[in-house]
Amino acid sequence: MEGRIIKALAGYYYVFDNEERIWSCRARGVFKKQGIQPLVGDVVQFEQVSNQDGWITNISPRKNSLQRPPIANIDQALLVHAVTEPSFNPLLLDRMLVVVEHIGIVPLLCFTKADLLEDWQWIKQQFNIYQELGYQMVLTSAVSGLGIDKLRRALEGKITVLAGPSGAGKSTLLNKICPHVTLETGAVSKKLGRGKHTTRHVELLKLSPSGLVADTPGFSQLDFTNITEDTLGSTFPEIRRLEQDCKYRGCLHRSEPGCAVKEALSQHQISTQRYEHYLQFLNEIETSRDRKR
Ligand code: ZN
Repeated sequence: MEGRIIKALAGYYYVFDNEERIWSCRARGVFKKQGIQPLVGDVVQFEQVSNQDGWITNISPRKNSLQRPPIANIDQALLVHAVTEPSFNPLLLDRMLVVVEHIGIVPLLCFTKADLLEDWQWIKQQFNIYQELGYQMVLTSAVSGLGIDKLRRALEGKITVLAGPSGAGKSTLLNKICPHVTLETGAVSKKLGRGKHTTRHVELLKLSPSGLVADTPGFSQLDFTNITEDTLGSTFPEIRRLEQDCKYRGCLHRSEPGCAVKEALSQHQISTQRYEHYLQFLNEIETSRDRKR
């Protein structure tokens, strides 16, 4: 038997098989000995014990995995931000992009509440910045239905982690993309005999026709723990493209001579706003490293 772990709770792994049945599985002690823990998102092979229970016997090789939130085989991260109410915070988006780029997950930018915005001038300038970087973007409105089909297609057949500040309208969006999601969540919770919002666990929700999505509260609060001064630049696509042309290896693009990034900045080829955020993050990384010393 084979399936994918969609939820892990109290030593049980809830596995969705190809026929969309849910199995409560335990993991073999051998995983513990090997120091491997099955993760939500894992494709696993299991032995059937009863018509609802099983033993996980093998974990298929992972494409990638995150520790916080614990989840494997992520295809993309949907970063959800409102265009207004609360007003768009580019610093926060850039912070999330750094984390996502660092992990190596493809970001997909989703802007919500298009129906509430009146003055589009500033936000359109913002959209341009991200468009020029090559990020895939979807503008949505849960009220008018704008962008919902496009978003649904972007999530099809993929494992997507959803992240964004509170108030961005993530749940509304999720309900709009797939009205069945709430029901299915309820069904899984009922099977577990627990209330829907009792724990902050990671769970993959099934979208129709295909695709899985994890609403991961912890994801938005990810910090720069594993990001160093010299790897920060590579998480900014515009800096990544230029830094090989800097005169010095290990250039931090601050005030080093012969810096290709500073040169591009002076010629308005890259966004000043993004560059300022880069400097801010660089300072944060240095400060937190100095504090640890
Ligand atoms: Zn440089």
